[in-house]
Amino acid sequence: MEVSKLNVYNTLSKRKEVFEPLNPPHVGLYVCGPTVYGDAHLGHARPAITFDILFRYLQHLGYKVRYVRNITDVGHLENDADEGEDKIAKKARLEQVEPMEVVQFFTDRYHRNMDALNVLKPSIEPRASGHIIEQQEMIREILEHGYAYESDGSIYFDVAKYNEDYPYGKLSGRVVDELLATTRELAGQQEKKNSFDFALWKKASPEHIMRWPSEWSDGFPGWHLECSAMSTKYLGKEFDIHGGGLDLLFPHHESEIAQSTAAHGHESVKYWMHNNMITINGQKMGKSLGNFITLDEFFQGNHSLLDRAYSAMTIRFFILQAHYRSTLDFSNEALQASEKGLERLMQAMSQLDKVKPSDVSDFSPAEYEALFYAAMNDDLNTPVLIAHLFDLSKRINSLADGREHLTQTDLDALKQLVHRFLEEILGLKTEEKKVDTTADLDGIMQLLLQVRHEAKLHKDWATADKIRNQLQALGFQIKDTKDGAEWIKS
Ligand code: ZN
Repeated sequence: MEVSKLNVYNTLSKRKEVFEPLNPPHVGLYVCGPTVYGDAHLGHARPAITFDILFRYLQHLGYKVRYVRNITDVGHLENDADEGEDKIAKKARLEQVEPMEVVQFFTDRYHRNMDALNVLKPSIEPRASGHIIEQQEMIREILEHGYAYESDGSIYFDVAKYNEDYPYGKLSGRVVDELLATTRELAGQQEKKNSFDFALWKKASPEHIMRWPSEWSDGFPGWHLECSAMSTKYLGKEFDIHGGGLDLLFPHHESEIAQSTAAHGHESVKYWMHNNMITINGQKMGKSLGNFITLDEFFQGNHSLLDRAYSAMTIRFFILQAHYRSTLDFSNEALQASEKGLERLMQAMSQLDKVKPSDVSDFSPAEYEALFYAAMNDDLNTPVLIAHLFDLSKRINSLADGREHLTQTDLDALKQLVHRFLEEILGLKTEEKKVDTTADLDGIMQLLLQVRHEAKLHKDWATADKIRNQLQALGFQIKDTKDGAEWIKS
């Protein structure tokens, strides 16, 4: 592997490849965003942070990145299938609001969570419902090329027909024969030629509220289509990187490849990248398991599986301490270890400001720089980078203690290096310690009452009265009790 260049693991070729953009210095990056019908949970944080690192690092390397991360606000049906209620519409029905109120509410909350995690905003954040025309246009192209068919007002992608001309399943490794044996016939699928065909356009039932007119029917687009249509619109028929969670590999991304190839006659994406899943205490996350912990619940410590609150930077650091392609298991112990680790790291780095320059250098910052780049160039290996940063933090402690020395030039270079990797690339920052004002105030009041109690024991009435009177002037009532005193704010 050439460590001087960025290598990324391509899910399509199933190996690491040197990253060569199609049209340097421009890079097109598309990542599947959330379906906004509920609060973001830990499973949303991982792709957001993984591709934030990629976005930051590509920009650091000098590329001009157009990062498109969509918002799914229509067409994502329950169970990710072609039948069932639209996830957004269902929430709207239950809450008795407009579907777009649901979308706005959870999009705003998603943005707030992403800001807390220090995830940079994408260059474009398109919504599926704002691109119905583009999706209809793509359906027409696929129909024209013979890879889709109409059935009672709905349009389905003809997987078997496509598979005659292009290899279907190249991303997920699923083959059509196998799919035929494993996909169940569900109610309503008699419309399809084959059970594995997927909807490009669905005719809306009378009670379905999210609907648009078309030459086929009043209806709505299939979930997979939006990403093909929006990536084409903003990044072109061929672009560099498509990312997302491994759970989207099949059928979502496999369908995207088929749609784009059927419409354009060729592959759209050069590098497919997928982050692995997060498990909770060794278990998959699932609605039935009740272990979807939302980010807000993490930040507030407000869930039965949480011992206490964890800050956004702790969550970010925890996610970065694993390679994005490994599974990551959440537990209270693991998060508390991350919290301590991050604190130790930030503490050591802040020591740099106290280091006095010397006439000689005991080591060169360039050694660390080479290690840092080698880690990032190896498919964004953030855990290895963090291990090197911990090694460096020991060196920084020695510098601060005067056991090792650096010249002014090397010291400046080291500060710049730490800033670049810790803040710019990993996106870590020192968090303001949350001040629990009620608890702090009680601590201070107890201290004052203790001093007053001791003054009284020494018959120092002047001090005892002064404390009581001045607290009273500030609105605190002091009540003497058998064992000392109590306070209330009046
Ligand atoms: Zn997508």
